[in-house]
Amino acid sequence: MQSLLGTKQQQVSTRAAARCAAVYDRPAGRLGFSLAKCRLLGSALQSRAARLRPLQSALQEISADVVIIGGGPAAHAAAVYLGRAELEPILFEGWMANGIAPGGQLTTTTYVENFPGFPEPILGGDLCDRFRQQSLTYGTKIYTETVTKLDLLGGSPFKMWTDSKAITANAVIIATGAAAKRLKIPGTDEETGFWNKGISACAVCDGSSPLFRNQPVGVIGGGDSAMEEAGFLARYASKVYVIHRFDYLEASKVMQKRARANPKIEIVWHHEVLEAYGKEDDDCLGGVVLRDNQTGKVRKLPLSGLFFAIGHAPATKFLGGQLELDEYGYIVTAPDSTATSIKGVFAAGDVQDRKWRQAITAAGSGCMAALEVERYLAEKENPGSRSFDDGGEVAPGANWGSSGTAAAGPSGQQVAVAS
Ligand SMILES: Cc1cc2nc3c(=O)[nH]c(=O)nc-3n(C[C@H](O)[C@H](O)[C@H](O)COP(=O)(O)OP(=O)(O)OC[C@H]3O[C@@H](n4cnc5c(N)ncnc54)[C@H](O)[C@@H]3O)c2cc1C
Repeated sequence: MQSLLGTKQQQVSTRAAARCAAVYDRPAGRLGFSLAKCRLLGSALQSRAARLRPLQSALQEISADVVIIGGGPAAHAAAVYLGRAELEPILFEGWMANGIAPGGQLTTTTYVENFPGFPEPILGGDLCDRFRQQSLTYGTKIYTETVTKLDLLGGSPFKMWTDSKAITANAVIIATGAAAKRLKIPGTDEETGFWNKGISACAVCDGSSPLFRNQPVGVIGGGDSAMEEAGFLARYASKVYVIHRFDYLEASKVMQKRARANPKIEIVWHHEVLEAYGKEDDDCLGGVVLRDNQTGKVRKLPLSGLFFAIGHAPATKFLGGQLELDEYGYIVTAPDSTATSIKGVFAAGDVQDRKWRQAITAAGSGCMAALEVERYLAEKENPGSRSFDDGGEVAPGANWGSSGTAAAGPSGQQVAVAS
């Protein structure tokens, strides 16, 4: 593998191969990443201090025109727009909220290669640090605290709480993201296993890397996302094994048909992954140990890649059912808009996007949310006014965007009405 590292271009094209070593043996110049770690440590101490604070101590009261909840690309894109609009947003980036570090899901990956503006791969942690720095530059106040409770049904100004603060805001952007579900299988974690060294939870993000090209890879799952990920991986891998514990798939018929018709995809029926093991010559994934659920027989399957495709968990539990969610727990937003079922509350990024789930789409919707907040606040202050001319139609009093309609639901909140 090392012999491939010749020219600069080759270094880039073999970056995935270098990932395995890079995760633990990163060049000293990667200051951003260590800064991220320092920040995490600082936040840990801060959060511990907050926990140790006597319960009876009063909560600090703060207020803002707009509060952003979340710390990934969606939240920071919104923060940059709102900061530049001089709305002095406050952003709660959370502390291990939904199991994810401040910075969001990109902190769980190594190199990001598909975010515009970075012709060279950039470490996920470094990219998150840059998002954060840009938000600070344009005047966002960031707290490394998790919003644990909200009162949205009472309308604007909305109330929300962290362990140490009681906050009011005229508008709220929820950008709390989602977490890719993973199974607790020995050998698949980041500390001692092969996470980011062949194991991932995002085929679209990582599947085209040289590490997996013309190599056998596995996908764990049996639903639509497993079929979709398998189809994507089949473009690059020599073989894709869909490892599924049952002898039937949960995927839709059309997705099943497509996967079964692909000569590179093989479904390994009624098998479970017991553990992942490494290659002999480097510290990348070498394969998995499988158990046949019907016979109990155990065997090894050599793989260079393993992808969890068992769904995502959007971070919406803390909303306490106040916003309309879809059947999978994602926030429902109006078509072509980030407006939620409550006027003045907007949602951006993966928390409202079950389909695309990419950093760039999250950032794009963060921008939309910020512009919609600007318009909402301007309209609130001067009914009939607009902060910018979008040429769209917004029904007076309705939170939904131009292509949806709205009606009052229980507790007075706005709920979707099929158009
Ligand atoms: C392993 C992996 C690799 C990936 N690689 C790529 C890639 O190469 N390119 C790409 O474009 N996309 C990639 N993605 C997808 C990308 O990371 C997501 O689409 C993107 O991060 C979503 O951004 P977001 O802002 O919506 O939310 P997230 O990134 O999920 O961030 C949400 C943040 O909000 C915080 N939060 C949650 N609840 C609260 C609360 N109550 N209070 C305060 N904070 C809270 C969370 O802790 C988290 O930090 C990858 C994803 C994974 C899992």
